Amino acid sequence: MNQVKESKNKMDEQQNKITETFWDAIVVGGGMVGAATALGLGQKGMQVLLLEKTAVDLEWDKESPCQIRVSALTRASEKILKNLGAWKGIENRRYHPFVAMHVWDEVTPGSVHFSAKDMHEPNLGYIAENNVVQAALWECLNECDNVKMLFSANIKGLEFENNQACLSIENLGQLQTELVIGADGAFSKVRQLASIGMDTHDYEQCAVVGCVKTELPHEDTCWQRYTKDGPFAFLSMENNVSSIAWYLPIEKMQWALELSDEEFAREISMASDFRLGQVVEVSERGAFPLVRRHAEHYVKPNFALVGDAAHTIHPQAGQGVNLGLLDAAALVETVLNAKQANKAWGSFSVLRKYERWRRGDNALVQRSMEGFDWLFKQDASLKTLVRKPFLPLANKLTLVKSWLMGQVLNGREALPELAKKFPRESR
Ligand SMILES: Cc1cc2nc3c(=O)[nH]c(=O)nc-3n(C[C@H](O)[C@H](O)[C@H](O)COP(=O)(O)OP(=O)(O)OC[C@H]3O[C@@H](n4cnc5c(N)ncnc54)[C@H](O)[C@@H]3O)c2cc1C
Repeated sequence: MNQVKESKNKMDEQQNKITETFWDAIVVGGGMVGAATALGLGQKGMQVLLLEKTAVDLEWDKESPCQIRVSALTRASEKILKNLGAWKGIENRRYHPFVAMHVWDEVTPGSVHFSAKDMHEPNLGYIAENNVVQAALWECLNECDNVKMLFSANIKGLEFENNQACLSIENLGQLQTELVIGADGAFSKVRQLASIGMDTHDYEQCAVVGCVKTELPHEDTCWQRYTKDGPFAFLSMENNVSSIAWYLPIEKMQWALELSDEEFAREISMASDFRLGQVVEVSERGAFPLVRRHAEHYVKPNFALVGDAAHTIHPQAGQGVNLGLLDAAALVETVLNAKQANKAWGSFSVLRKYERWRRGDNALVQRSMEGFDWLFKQDASLKTLVRKPFLPLANKLTLVKSWLMGQVLNGREALPELAKKFPRESR
């Protein structure tokens, strides 16, 4: 705890002390993806400024209730976070490994069961609260002299000239950089300032999230049931506590938010088909409308997008931040390689390598989620015909199962270096 407090003080000290006007890179947005990007560059000697809208809380109270925003982290994300040194901060706070995933359907019989044992792995991944991952990364940023952090900076403009980008910040003036990295989430302001358009698709669904306590133990397993309304998932946390993701048609969002705790517990118990018995306790809840977004371009000269600023995806397979962390690792590697080769890392030819590396992969994952969404969304007869044999077949076909599991464990192929190996000390 002392170390956390000391880090916080360092962070506070940096506010209002930004005197440099030129930076190797300026990262806008210090969520999980932006923080990982800034850290990856800073740890390799680049002078980085990280701008974040909201102050990040490094204090940790282990008695605090589970946050409503959690992520399932893949093995590739684990490697990235370990290589950046942030895993310790996650372990010191709260996270939970899961050893199996069980998927079944309301409309058709059969189920798929993935287990770590079958894959000869210790687990299939981890459930971690988003603010835990973010705080662990920020703790490392505090230790990194090459990265400066600034909260509440109001970006007024972004211009490109003379092979540089210039960000205008309220009360701070103009900052020049070789590269602006937009990591400011789905509604990215810098993406708009850079005039990069978005391809969007409204799923007309929402995800209702929160934490619940169940009558029966979750057995360190993530349970996902496809209902007529959409998928319902229990993501295993501590003891009998699970984080939930309940996907509903968008017109039911308000209804779900306004249910009393007792009604909410009853609805969730029913949506999960009482797989973990009755839901006996519910936390605060939140709801997010679901939209697929994909930036028309990830890069332009002296500018690149990562994470949700570049793409958002249906969260049913828990891939969003995992893809974002792969973006971060790929961009860091592309930029560092260019620097080492004495090339301008903000040049279009360098940044295009990053875009070619990540955009196709992200699009493929987005499309496969759309396939699942189509297959399981409705029970029209033709779809049911296709859907009926899907789960039993997927469960039987070892190759299909291993491929699906490979996606869950490692994410995409052509992994960046940071996602390839565990650091020596953690092997
Ligand atoms: C219901 C739900 C469940 C999900 N579950 C999973 C899962 O299990 N696994 C998974 O991998 N993904 C999951 N996701 C997706 C995941 O949450 C996102 O992909 C991830 O949070 C994106 O991280 P990011 O850092 O790119 O963006 P964000 O988390 O949106 O962070 C952006 C940051 O930028 C800051 N910012 C915004 N504007 C500015 C500005 N103008 N100036 C400075 N800073 C700014 C914000 O304060 C924020 O800190 C889920 C999403 C939802 C909605």
